[in-house]
Amino acid sequence: MDARPAPASVGYACTMRFEFLRSHEWQVSLGRFVVLLAAAAGLGYALDAPLAAVAIALFVYAIWSLVSLYRMQQWLRSRRRAPPPEDWGVLSDVSEFVYRKLARERSRKRRLVTLLRAFREAAAALPDGVVVLSPGRGILWFNESAARLLGLVAPRDRGALIDPFLPPQAADWIRATPGDPLTDVPSRLDPDLRVSMRLIPYGKAQTLLVVRDITHLARLEQVRRDFVANVSHELRTPLTVLHGYLDMLEPDDAPQWAPMLADLRSQSRRMAQLVEDLLTLSRLEGQPELPDERVPMRPLLSALAREAEALSQGSHHVVAIADTEQDLRGSAQYLHSAFSNLVSNAVRYTPPGGRIELGWTAQGDGAAFSVRDTGQGIPAEHLPRITERFYRVSTSRSRASGGTGLGLSIVKHIMGLHGARLEIESSPGNGSRFSCVFDPRRLLPPGSSEWEAGRA
Ligand code: ADP
Repeated sequence: MDARPAPASVGYACTMRFEFLRSHEWQVSLGRFVVLLAAAAGLGYALDAPLAAVAIALFVYAIWSLVSLYRMQQWLRSRRRAPPPEDWGVLSDVSEFVYRKLARERSRKRRLVTLLRAFREAAAALPDGVVVLSPGRGILWFNESAARLLGLVAPRDRGALIDPFLPPQAADWIRATPGDPLTDVPSRLDPDLRVSMRLIPYGKAQTLLVVRDITHLARLEQVRRDFVANVSHELRTPLTVLHGYLDMLEPDDAPQWAPMLADLRSQSRRMAQLVEDLLTLSRLEGQPELPDERVPMRPLLSALAREAEALSQGSHHVVAIADTEQDLRGSAQYLHSAFSNLVSNAVRYTPPGGRIELGWTAQGDGAAFSVRDTGQGIPAEHLPRITERFYRVSTSRSRASGGTGLGLSIVKHIMGLHGARLEIESSPGNGSRFSCVFDPRRLLPPGSSEWEAGRA
């Protein structure tokens, strides 16, 4: 005999099948039905036509059910907020359920609308311009500040493409995947209005364009730049005079002053270097565009290796390795200055006997100029700030080696102007590697024909 218990699902189905009988509405409806049938059967029996009486009762019941259904449909269609009538039996229960659900949805919708309105009002009141962009860069929504900064007009420009409202400098930037912000560009409406822009992706494929008015900041920055440039320029002449007189003095004439004279000379040289570096930085900051020259990399690499040997005076092992024939496009003077800053640092911060390796190598689609040394290295906590002006790991060591603390910020600036990035890998005791990574747009194939013909 099969003594296995009935599967759980069968029990569940049975419970489900008769569960409805516990509901009051079902009990009332079934009760009414049974009473109606019994009354019809009794009456039919008395009149000697029980079947006809039951058939008539069923017909009446069906008509009444249809009328109830019709009334329920009318009630649902009218979207009235009044609760459904209670005399529909089971249908009242269904309607009650729908009614409660609708009421819940309505209150949820009200809450959402209030929240949305609050968000919109907050976004509209933001001092920064905010534009919601569709995946195809169409304008979905913008606030008042965006209208003021970009010259958008509501509702005319909703649905239009954002491109014609952006400054020409932003044309490529907006098409690229959202990444770095675009800092300090003139607004299309008024060139005196300076703005910075940021693209923030959100949702599935939408983007938020945030536009900030930085006119005031840009003006302050200009004042600072002019001040530094003017002070450096003014210091240059007196320093040259001082330097000239110091060079005229002979230590042999007054041997007791000799150590002091050497100190004066080295300090005045340091000051002159500081002034030169500050002037270079302010020239770089005020440089909107670069000369577009071919920079032949192999000869540059050899020249840098010779510089390193001259600086090191034979106390380091210098090697130069090039594994790509490509050249660079940009300012030959600035690129030389940046690379030679890295080379000079490698010599100054690597103890005698160390190895210095200069490289020009393919890296992904682009290429990188790198300087690797076996010097003292830089502790990790200093790396994030190492390219800031006057930031040094050890001030005394930098000064002793003739450093100004401005070298790496000059390098970073020059890289920025060339659309390249400076990568630094370093750890104490293991030396450092400084790489300037250029993307393919800055590279030129060996030989001259294609690019120079294009320029002509
Ligand atoms: P500085 O004129 O002082 O060398 P830089 O801006 O060129 O200024 O460098 C900033 C600091 O970074 C230096 O003071 C030094 O501490 C550190 N540094 C730069 N290059 C190297 C290197 N190759 N090895 C170790 N430390 C370095």
